[in-house]
Amino acid sequence: MIRPGATLGLLGGGQLGRMFTVAARTLGYRVTVLDPDPLSPAAEFATGHLNTPYTHPASLAEIAQTCAAVTTEFENAPAEALLALAERTLVRPSGNAVAVAQDRSREKAFIAGNGLPVGPYADLRGEADFDAALARVRLPAILKTARFGYDGKGQATIASRADLAKTFTDWKGVPCVLEERLALELEISVILARAADGEIEVFPVAENRHAHGILDVTIAPARIPAALAAEATDLASRLARALDYVGVLAVEMFVVGGRLLLNEIAPRPHNSGHYTIDACRTSQFEQQVRVLCGLPLGDPTLHTPAVMVNLLGDIWRDGEPRWEAVLRHAGAHLHLYGKREARPGRKMGHVTVCEPTLEAALEVALAIRRELGIAESG
Ligand code: ADP
Ligand code: MG
Repeated sequence: MIRPGATLGLLGGGQLGRMFTVAARTLGYRVTVLDPDPLSPAAEFATGHLNTPYTHPASLAEIAQTCAAVTTEFENAPAEALLALAERTLVRPSGNAVAVAQDRSREKAFIAGNGLPVGPYADLRGEADFDAALARVRLPAILKTARFGYDGKGQATIASRADLAKTFTDWKGVPCVLEERLALELEISVILARAADGEIEVFPVAENRHAHGILDVTIAPARIPAALAAEATDLASRLARALDYVGVLAVEMFVVGGRLLLNEIAPRPHNSGHYTIDACRTSQFEQQVRVLCGLPLGDPTLHTPAVMVNLLGDIWRDGEPRWEAVLRHAGAHLHLYGKREARPGRKMGHVTVCEPTLEAALEVALAIRRELGIAESG
């Protein structure tokens, strides 16, 4: 067990890292953040900030020397950096698990290869793959770059073969996956922690609404039949075991025709788990600290229904939003990430509304959205 007082290393210093750092510091740990951004939101709370690229040898050497354990908040922090660190210190999750999660082709092959459900898709490496892909995937489809996509970036709708050829060329032939565009009834996510001894604790299944490819609202617990929630929990747990995963893992799923399909995984806490900070007995970030340090896993039970609303840079259009609109609601918890520059689509913060009933939480969340000028996602 790594005891409080030790220093933990964190690759990536965005808002997820910020909330991890707060949880780690609360438990008495020191945190060194590695992030090239001098304005890293996590670094504000960290005891140290290595302000270099992720693969910088001197930074990795310093982390290996000073940190009792290392984790990540960002799948694009190179898996190689994690693998290199693993030779000298404890790394959770493993570089191998992160390498699967950061590449859509490997991720989908892994999911399907373990007998877990995934929608029709095909890998594209070059024009020679077009015929086979279009035979497997019905149009309209979605083309996604295999790497570096997030919040709907690196995705395009494909209506025809000509569309496919043009977009693939526009993207300079980088490896892609083509996915059938599914008629989604609902999107849900399962976040769990798996400890080194194989013990798994699963947070309540969350229901997610997206707007323009970006998470907009999370509702917990998801309004789905108990059997479907149990199946989602089981699928996520099977995936974690298949990956021999140690850490916090998020699994995004689609509900299509009443059945579950796995969409993608994130080797870290997830935006759809922010509600756990205010609504669960243990947050996803404290759970990340616990699993990293080999502490007993926390209780993920929901103690109040919750609705989380993302605050994107769009609502800074006319200057700083009027936070009174949030703060005067007793059940609303405001979280801001300390980012200096508000750009449209940029995640700046979130609000979690906790009320005795989900209906009441939804009503307050709706009122807050209206007052902040957030458009309805439908
Ligand atoms: P990322 O979250 O990394 O940007 P996703 O693959 O999760 O990428 O896509 C973002 C959102 O786009 C999803 O949450 C979903 O709303 C929508 N989407 C993605 N793939 C499909 C699909 N095959 N069919 C229908 N909608 C999709
Ligand atoms: Mg996603």
